[in-house]
Parts: sequence; C-alpha cells; structure tokens
Amino acid sequence: MASGQTILILGGGIAGVVLARRLRRRLGKKHRVALVEKKPQHEYPPGYNRLALDVSPLVAMRIAYLRNRGIDVVHSEVLKIDPTNRQVRVTIRELGFDHLVIALGADLGTETVSGWGRNAHHTYSADEADRLRRDLKDFKGGTVVIGTAALPYKCPPAPYEFAFLFEEYCRKKGLREATTFHLFSPEPEPLAFAGESVSGALKGWLEERHITYHPESKLTGISGPTHEITFEGEKKLNYDFLYAVPPHRAPQVCVDSQLTGESGWISVNPETLETKWDGVYAIGDVAEVISSNGRRVPMTGAFAMKQADVVSKNLVAKIEGRTPPAAFDGKAGCELMVGGGRAAQIEADIFSGSGTFKMSSPSYLTQWKKLRREKMWVWDWFE
Ligand SMILES: Cc1cc2nc3c(=O)[nH]c(=O)nc-3n(C[C@H](O)[C@H](O)[C@H](O)COP(=O)(O)OP(=O)(O)OC[C@H]3O[C@@H](n4cnc5c(N)ncnc54)[C@H](O)[C@@H]3O)c2cc1C
Repeated sequence: MASGQTILILGGGIAGVVLARRLRRRLGKKHRVALVEKKPQHEYPPGYNRLALDVSPLVAMRIAYLRNRGIDVVHSEVLKIDPTNRQVRVTIRELGFDHLVIALGADLGTETVSGWGRNAHHTYSADEADRLRRDLKDFKGGTVVIGTAALPYKCPPAPYEFAFLFEEYCRKKGLREATTFHLFSPEPEPLAFAGESVSGALKGWLEERHITYHPESKLTGISGPTHEITFEGEKKLNYDFLYAVPPHRAPQVCVDSQLTGESGWISVNPETLETKWDGVYAIGDVAEVISSNGRRVPMTGAFAMKQADVVSKNLVAKIEGRTPPAAFDGKAGCELMVGGGRAAQIEADIFSGSGTFKMSSPSYLTQWKKLRREKMWVWDWFE
C-alpha cells in the first residue's frame, strides 16, 4: 500500500483546474492535491471575444472555492521551480512534491513590439477584453485593423472569430458602411498550418465580409500618435481601431528556472507529457508537444483538457503501483464563431500523417455546443 503522496500543480487555469478535479476524484484521500495560482480567480478565456463585444459576461470563479472539493489551494505566485531538488518557491514559502505538473500557461510579450503601450487592443486577458469593451463605446466607424503579432499564439482561430464578430457588431450598430476591415497575419494563408481546406474556407468568409487579408505581414511597430502600424519590409497600415494578438512566451519563472528549451517552451514527451525530469510534467499552453511528424500541438483549452486527463490517469496509476494506461493522442476540436449565431467545428488530429485538420460548415448547433460548455464551465469544474 503506497503512503500518502503530494501532487503539486502550478497554475489554476484550464489545465490546472481540470487536472486538480480529475485527480481528486480518482485518488484516495490520503494523497494530497495542491494547486498554486497567483490570481484570486480562475478565468475562462474562450468567452473573452464576446466579453469584449459586450455580448457575454466573464466566466470566472474564486479559485479558493476548490478547497471545498478537497484541493489544497495555495493563492501565491510561483517564483522558482527546482525539479532536481523537488522544491517550488512561492511568495510565502517553499513547497515540496512527489509529482509536479507545470500548467502555467503563456505570458504576453507586448513590450517586444515597439509602441504597443495601450495603442493596441486584444482579448488575450480578461482585463484587456474588458478595456476593449469599454473603449468600443466610443467607436463610431473607421479603419479597423485586426491581426497577430507572432506565432505561436493560443487559440489560432481566435483573431478570425474576433474579426467575424466585430464585423457583425458594426452591422448591428449601423456602423458597417463607415468601417473598413483589414486582417493581417505572419502566415502566408489564414491558419496555413491547418491546410488548404481550412485556409480556403477562412479566406472565403473574409472575402464575403469584405475583410481585406494581408498575408506574411510581421508586425514590427505601432505608432499611437500617427495611428500607423509597421510590418517587416516597411509596409504600413493606418488604423482607427487596432486589435493585435500579442507575442506569446513561456512564463518568466519557467525561463529563470531553466526549464525551457531552445524554442522557449517546456519540451515534453508527446504521449506522456513528462519533461526530462522524473515525475515532472508540463501540460497546456506552456508545454511544447511536438509529434513524430514534427508538428506542434496548438495551444488550446481543448488540448489542455485532454492532456490533463492523460496525466491524471497516469499519475493515479503510478501512485497505485499500476502501469500508466493513457497516452495523449493529439486529437481535439474547437468551435470558431462566424457570426449569425453559427460556428464551425475544427477537428485536429496532430499525430496522424503530417497532421490533419477538418473544418465543418458553420451551424447553429455547433455554436450552441460552444456556448453550453461556457455556461456549464463553473458548474462542471467547481461543483
Ligand atoms: C480570446 C481567446 C479565445 C479562446 N478560445 C478558445 C476556444 O474556443 N477553445 C479552446 O479550446 N481554447 C480557446 N482558447 C485557448 C485557451 O484559453 C488556452 O489554450 C487555455 O486557457 C490553456 O490553458 P492553460 O491552463 O495552459 O493556461 P491558462 O488557462 O492561461 O492558465 C495558466 C494559469 O497559470 C497562472 N500563472 C501564470 N504564472 C503564474 C505564476 N508565476 N504563479 C502562479 N500562477 C501563475 C495564470 O494566472 C493562469 O491562471 C482561447 C484563448 C483566448 C485568449
């Protein structure tokens, strides 16, 4: 009979909370599940685009509530991770562990693009989505520029979803005739990594809505005073309203603790999600999961949840002295809202062939599925 063990989870976002709940349900009471989160509340990002456009409230829950579910919540910032000596320093103390799961998500590097300041809006944090919502009240039409500063970034369809919903917002507010839309990306085609059928469908939807697509446009600077953005090669665009997905990087504590590899992310075994340190795992956005075909698993909540499920099953088996039964299969889906109450389903199978993606035609049912998950999120994972 194994003695009581401690599983320490760093980060109370989608991956961390799903993992903590799954472990607590599957593990005997003598084992401790501890979760460290710096923010007082857990927030659910898939609703941020609609929060910004004032059509949905923020989905969030006090992280400390998980104490009622037998999880030892430590509301503190992770300052250092020492996988060799099995110690994690948080603001107020040192924490030991038998098994460690790093689920700290991605940080935003807005300072790496000159002039970012408060000139660009985005929906990559609840606070920024809310700032966009407030500033939108003053928007009376003009040139809207939407784009992505750098790859990789979380939820690759998110800026396209924002463009479709913002275009619809302008139509509903009677601002469409006074507004022109541009969308830029460092990629040669919209979501090029997902293949021709996905790119082609997205291009068609952009054209239908008269949103001009600017491929291979790598953002290098923003000038607030002249309302101008610059791309590599000196191409420029003027804007009245700018939405740009900031560059992403691993949280600084992972870099300072020397957990990140050359790519800047934590590299893991693609099937077990274990790092090169024994008993130390990384899941969700912070983990760089590269399949044998060389494809990187996109940063999405759907993949983060699947990874949490695999790690929870394998940790429970390991603790109970059984052979770990689960392997991450690189499959997950997400929904892209296109306006008009409809969403398209995107299914990814990263490990098969050279990595395959399929996108369904938009439907009301797919949008309902997405909204239902969002509505049930707090109930499903906190109750
Ligand atoms: C606008 C938008 C739309 C999206 N839509 C979808 C969608 O439709 N479908 C989908 O599947 N995915 C979607 N995503 C992506 C999804 O939200 C992320 O991939 C997912 O949240 C990743 O989970 P995570 O747990 O790895 O990271 P996060 O959910 O970001 O959680 C990381 C947690 O770690 C905490 N943390 C960080 N550093 C520290 C520290 N030093 N100490 C303590 N705590 C720390 C953070 O506060 C945070 O709570 C969307 C994202 C955005 C921004």
